[in-house]
Amino acid sequence: MLNPLVPLPFDPHTIDLDPLLRQLHLSYTRTAWVELVAQCDSQNVSCREFLVRLLTAEVATRQQSRIRKSTHQARFPFLKTIEEFDFSLQPHLRLATLGPFLGPEMVTEGRCLILQGEPGRGKTHIAIAIAYRAILNGFIAKFTHAAELIDHLSAESRKGNLRQALTAYVNPHVLIIDEVGYLSHGPEAANVLFHVVQQRHAKKKPMIFTTNKAPLTQWGDVLHDKDLADTIVDRVLERGRLIVLQGPSYRTKHLPKLDQSSQQHDHQLDTISGKNATQFPEPTRAFSLALLWSGRRPSVRKRSSAFC
Ligand code: ADP
Ligand code: MG
Repeated sequence: MLNPLVPLPFDPHTIDLDPLLRQLHLSYTRTAWVELVAQCDSQNVSCREFLVRLLTAEVATRQQSRIRKSTHQARFPFLKTIEEFDFSLQPHLRLATLGPFLGPEMVTEGRCLILQGEPGRGKTHIAIAIAYRAILNGFIAKFTHAAELIDHLSAESRKGNLRQALTAYVNPHVLIIDEVGYLSHGPEAANVLFHVVQQRHAKKKPMIFTTNKAPLTQWGDVLHDKDLADTIVDRVLERGRLIVLQGPSYRTKHLPKLDQSSQQHDHQLDTISGKNATQFPEPTRAFSLALLWSGRRPSVRKRSSAFC
């Protein structure tokens, strides 16, 4: 190992450090070291403290630039955080319910989420906030609209490039597929979406879907293949969770009459879980899926008698 204290073959006071720092990709150090050395000299800072200050700032700068780059690459339509979400507008949803999706375990355990609700309920906001947390935790995320993914993969499939095109949707640690069902998707919808879900499921990679379709059996209609759509939902919910947003629309919350129907909901709980249910006593996955498929939502009363 090199001893940095042996006599140097050059004059340390005149050597140009820039090429060395560039070679080491120490971009913060390159721009800041001269000023920092002057500051430390004037404040009588020890070599150790100087090194600590320099390296800490270098690491922080690198993290910030990685987050900036990853956020840009994720192609979010807007950036929102979980801290910006007003839970008082969604009284059936608690921050604790989203807890399992906000830490690194979201990715390491391959957790999935389907956010269901009418427009303006904050589905896309929550999906982006979760993916952004994953980015902060060091992972890569990608946002896509369902229609965009289906159109892209259908076109590539017709050209015989499906396998290669899939990598863009399979490689990122977290994939958001926004707005399943807003538009009627093309005839190959179920087929190409199934490839994405199947490959991500096999690799235990998280997927977040948003949809206005309830019950989820309606995916069969918009994807033009009931059996494949059922299989897609089954794969996603195996390590996933359905969260229904029932509160008023954020966009029209100042118009109470518009939201009368959503205000009429009783105190039903708003989540139905897959295998990794956590906080609450919840129905088994088989029962949950049966309820989902039937379009019914379990009430607190029914659940407590059925599952205690
Ligand atoms: P959806 O996907 O359900 O149609 P969005 O997530 O696009 O709704 O939300 C529409 C806008 O309203 C976004 O700017 C979002 O940040 C905001 N919004 C929705 N719900 C909330 C909320 N509960 N707290 C804060 N902002 C919200
Ligand atoms: Mg949306």
